[in-house]
Amino acid sequence: MEEKLIKDYSSPGRRAYSLPPLEVTESSLENDIKDYLRDDLDLPEVSEVDVVRHYTALSEMNYGVDSGIYPLGSCTMKYNPKRNERIARMTKLSYLHPYQEVEDVQGSLEILYQLKLDLAEISGMDEITLQPASGAHGEFTSLMIVKKYFEDRDEERTKVIVPDSAHGTNPASAIMAGYDVIEIASNEQGMVDLQELKEAVGEDTAALMLTNPNTLGIFEEDILEITKIVHDAGGLIYYDGANMNAIMGYAKPGEMDFDLMHFNLHKTFSTPHGGGGPGSGPVGVKDFLAPYLPKPVLKKEADSYFWDYKRDKSIGKVHSFYGNYGVMLRAWAYIKTVGGKGLKKTTENAVLNANYLKARLKDKYELPYAEDSLHEFVLSGSKQKEKGASTLHIAKRLLDYDQYAPTIYFPLVVKEAIMIEPTETENIDTLDRFVETMLTISREIKENPELVINAPHSTAVRRLDETKAARKPDLHW
Ligand SMILES: *Cc1c(COP(=O)(O)O)cnc(C)c1O
Repeated sequence: MEEKLIKDYSSPGRRAYSLPPLEVTESSLENDIKDYLRDDLDLPEVSEVDVVRHYTALSEMNYGVDSGIYPLGSCTMKYNPKRNERIARMTKLSYLHPYQEVEDVQGSLEILYQLKLDLAEISGMDEITLQPASGAHGEFTSLMIVKKYFEDRDEERTKVIVPDSAHGTNPASAIMAGYDVIEIASNEQGMVDLQELKEAVGEDTAALMLTNPNTLGIFEEDILEITKIVHDAGGLIYYDGANMNAIMGYAKPGEMDFDLMHFNLHKTFSTPHGGGGPGSGPVGVKDFLAPYLPKPVLKKEADSYFWDYKRDKSIGKVHSFYGNYGVMLRAWAYIKTVGGKGLKKTTENAVLNANYLKARLKDKYELPYAEDSLHEFVLSGSKQKEKGASTLHIAKRLLDYDQYAPTIYFPLVVKEAIMIEPTETENIDTLDRFVETMLTISREIKENPELVINAPHSTAVRRLDETKAARKPDLHW
């Protein structure tokens, strides 16, 4: 698993090309250009095959969805069909410039418009903006919409309610938008505690932010009661759409009485993501909030598409140009390829796969919430911790078996949490292999905990300082 630096393959005079002999008179470079040529740079002299093998070796030290199962709960790391990549690379689309006149890019605007209509249909929302670049950005955009809406109504509402099982971006977005966050505890079934909610709502409630199914993979049974409690107090209800892949084709946030929401195109509708981007987090709203959407809004009149900038109540722009067009394109290709029936099937298989894994793992790993769950579920590594190896060690040991670890230590309501989301794209053989590995690790902890505690043993690097790796990446030598 060692790979030398590209410099170490260098040999003086070695080249990645060979040119035919010179047939014209040689001429020297103009002096003013010469000034810019540097020969003090220690550049590697290598052949083409050296370059290809070096970078292929580096890529093989990494792990991705194309390498194997990637069961990160909440993140929805599904396989990305290569067909969508080919479509996103078509020169007719990829060579366009965002400053081109709308008359010249009607086709690409039509794609965006169709995507908007499809997202509205899938979610039961009335109007969509495609500008936000991620789920978190969609949350922030939505809370700015909430803010503007209440300002317009002369209502002073300063608080946003967030359940304790929420993703960390929810309270972070609320704070960034200038709200105070009220956290409410979940009940014993892992759902919103209605009594807690009733006590938390009031005249100062701007919004409740909710994920449904929640981050335990559990559908909020009392959802209509929940939305009613908040609406009766005059607040709005925000849907965190990161788990849309659990309900697509079966239930719509709009019909659960949510007022606005975000989608994570890079989760629900394939599209490669990870390492911080790129993503796309469109926001959908009910009609009464549409005037506040970021401008410009894509409109269609007769047979042509245009950007509507005349929007007095808009919160303004939240992204340059159209947003992350390449991500939208892949999501559009995905939706158009599988169609309505296909999206439904996607949901069914995601739920089936997660429930299969849950059924096979729940005897050896503690299952803190036994409620029926949908596309993901959360185990606890508490039993294993008593024997000496924690959830972190289990996650590291999985890497030795060439499998990616689930999300760990989230949601915060579960101690030693192991949050598993296989997605619909894995077949039963891959799922079985994952189960066998998890059971093997549990056995190893009983017999030889040191083996697990010191994992990984077989990766290119072993235990990284995770904070430093994220905050101070060492990208050169
Ligand atoms: C991923 C996720 C988010 C944030 O989305 P990003 O696109 O990563 O910004 C918010 N909530 C939940 C439940 C998520 O899983």
